Amino acid sequence: MREGLLEIFQKAYNELRPGSSLPELKIEFFAFTNVNNTIRLRNGRLLVRLSDLLEGAPPSVLRAIAHILLAKMYRRPIDRGQATRYRRYVASHDIVRKAHLVRQMRGRKRLRPARGHVYDLDAIFEELNTRFFHGLMARPRMSWSHTKTRRILGHYDPAHNAIIISRIFDHFTVPRYVVEYIVYHEMLHLKHPVKLRGSRRCVHPAEFQAEEKLFPHAAQANAFLKRL
Ligand SMILES: [Zn+2]
Repeated sequence: MREGLLEIFQKAYNELRPGSSLPELKIEFFAFTNVNNTIRLRNGRLLVRLSDLLEGAPPSVLRAIAHILLAKMYRRPIDRGQATRYRRYVASHDIVRKAHLVRQMRGRKRLRPARGHVYDLDAIFEELNTRFFHGLMARPRMSWSHTKTRRILGHYDPAHNAIIISRIFDHFTVPRYVVEYIVYHEMLHLKHPVKLRGSRRCVHPAEFQAEEKLFPHAAQANAFLKRL
């Protein structure tokens, strides 16, 4: 473990939950293609995974991410200053360039722009990011499909770090919540990565499905999709 990181999490924990003691903590850096960071509690132990793109981050940014993850874990309000500090760092040139290099190394793909005739997928992603993911998810490339497929509504392509949504939904007769629901589904795939590589299977474990139901218009969206 990186020197000082444990102390940073310890301090952030004490600020959020004074008087209670920090569970056993394990922090790992992971080669996420985008800047995702996760925290979960397993058997009384906190598992923290940080994107390796944060490995060289200054202590102030690591303090911010420790605060954000722990606040999320224990359902405490996220300090605005910390959130801003973290977002600024992620958006900074260094990180953008590194993320870009990682993507380049994983190959190129001809993608259509995120802005369609009716809907802008980048805007939809960012809105959902704020509403459901504490703004913690790094936006992959967002793209409308080349063909108007009904068979695949949307998919996440890890090789190109891209979410591709079927172009049939970029139409004024499609309610916005339907597009949001499909993007939300793909964002959950980012959050719950499939272990099998190169598999075409779409895996939705129980926690994925439970989280998908949190989308307020899930029932209406599903009804619309059935009528497609
Ligand atoms: Zn899926």
